[in-house]
Amino acid sequence: LSERLGSVFERLTKQGALSDADVATALREVRVALLEADVSLPVARDFVAAVQAKATGQSVTKSVTPGQQVVKIVHDELIRVLAGDGPADALKIDNPPACVLMVGLQGSGKTTTTAKLAKRLHDKQGKRVLLASLDTNRPAAMEQLQILAAQVGVDSLPIVKGESATQIAKRAKAQATMGGYDVLFLDTAGRLHIDEALMAEVQAVRDIAQPRETLLVVDGLTGQDAVNVATEFDGKVGITGVVLTRMDGDGRGGAALSMRAVTGKPIRFVGMGEKMDALETFEPDRVAGRILGMGDIVALVEKAQENFEAEQAERMMKRFQKGLFNMNDLKSQLEQMLKMGGMQGLMGMLPGMGKMQKAAQDAGFDDKMLRRQIALINSMTKKERANPDLLAASRKKRIAAGSGLDVSDLNRLLKQHKQMADMMKKMGKGGMMKAAMKQMM
Ligand code: GDP
Ligand code: MG
Repeated sequence: LSERLGSVFERLTKQGALSDADVATALREVRVALLEADVSLPVARDFVAAVQAKATGQSVTKSVTPGQQVVKIVHDELIRVLAGDGPADALKIDNPPACVLMVGLQGSGKTTTTAKLAKRLHDKQGKRVLLASLDTNRPAAMEQLQILAAQVGVDSLPIVKGESATQIAKRAKAQATMGGYDVLFLDTAGRLHIDEALMAEVQAVRDIAQPRETLLVVDGLTGQDAVNVATEFDGKVGITGVVLTRMDGDGRGGAALSMRAVTGKPIRFVGMGEKMDALETFEPDRVAGRILGMGDIVALVEKAQENFEAEQAERMMKRFQKGLFNMNDLKSQLEQMLKMGGMQGLMGMLPGMGKMQKAAQDAGFDDKMLRRQIALINSMTKKERANPDLLAASRKKRIAAGSGLDVSDLNRLLKQHKQMADMMKKMGKGGMMKAAMKQMM
C-alpha cells in the first residue's frame, strides 16, 4: 500500500505543478489507503472531499514539490480530524471518589485496560484506586480483575458470589467512599455483540454509579465494526472517551479515524500490548502516519524531496558542463541558496569561491536580496529567461516595474548572472562543478 502511495507521489514530484488531475489521482489512492486501513466508507469519502477542497485552493509553493504538498495536506487533515479539539488525555477524576465506567464488547480489552489505567494513576499520580468487576457472566472474570489489581498494586472489591451487576456497583460505591479512595473503576461485562440485555445492564449500572468518565474500550483491529459499536454505546449509555486496544497489532488504526469522525469523542489512550505498562496516550500524528500506511511519513516526504533535488541538480550540472547558464538556472540556484541558509553558506561550500564570497558580503547579500532577485527573474518572459541578452532598456523597465524594483537592481542581477555564467563555464570544463555540486547535496 505504501508502495502504491509512494509511486503516486513520486510521479507527482516529477511534474512541476499540482494540476487537478494530479490531485484527483493522488486522492483516489488516499481513499483506497483509508479503506484498506479500515476507515469506514462515509468517513473516507468525507475526508477525501475535505482534502480535495484544501488542495485545489492551493498553488504549489516553489520550495516544495507537488507530491510533498499533497502528502502534507493529507497528513495535516488526518491529524486535524484525529486530534479534534486538542489533547484530552487527562481523566476527570477530581471530587473523590470519582467513578470511571469501563464499557465495551467482550474481549475488547476492558479488564486489561482497567488494570493498566489503575497502574498509571497509582504510579504516576499517587492515586488510591479501587477496582470492581461487574462481570457476572463470564466465569473467572472477577478473579481476573482481582489478580491484575494485585499485580499492579491497587485494591479490588472483595468478590461476593450471587450478586447482580447493579448490586456490585452499589457496594463498590459505598466501599470507595468509606475507604477514602480517589478513583473507582467499574469493569462491566461485555457481550460478543451488542444486545438489549447488555445495554440495559450498562444503563442501570450507569444510573447507580454516576460516573465522571465512561470509557469505551474498542479493539483497534476491528475497523469498521468499531464505529457501529461506538455509535451504539454513545447513543445508549453516553461515552466520554475511547480507548483503542491492540494497536500493537498489524491493524492500520483506521478505526481511530472513523471513531473520531463519527462520534466526535476523544480517543484517550491506546493499548500497545498485553503487559500492564503497555498503555500510551493517544498521539494523533503517530496514528496519522500509520493510517496512511507509512511508518514515518516525514521520511517519505524527505525522500521524495531528495529525489527531486538530486534530479534537478543533475540536470543543472549537465547544463553547466556544456557551459549553459541562463536565468532559469540562476533562479534555481538562488532558490537553492535560500533553502541552504543563504548566499554565505553556499559560497563557503564551493571551492574557489572565496573571492565571490567576500564580494557577496560586501554587496550585502542576504535572504531579502535573494528573494528580490528571484522576483526579478519571475517577471521575465520565458524567452528573456532563456536568453538574457534580449534585455533592452524597455524590457528592463517592464521587468523592474513588474517586480516592484528598480532597473538598477536588475542591472546588478544581470551582472551577477554574467559573472556566474563565466565561472560555470570555467568550472564545467575543469570538472570541478561535479565535486562542488556533490558537496552541496
Ligand atoms: P475484556 O473481555 O474486554 O475484559 O477483555 P480482556 O481485558 O480480558 O482482554 C482480552 C485479551 O486481549 C487478553 O488476552 C488481553 O491480554 C488482550 N489485550 C488487551 N489489550 C491488549 C492490547 O492493547 N494489545 C494486545 N496485544 N492484547 C491486548
Ligand atoms: Mg473483562
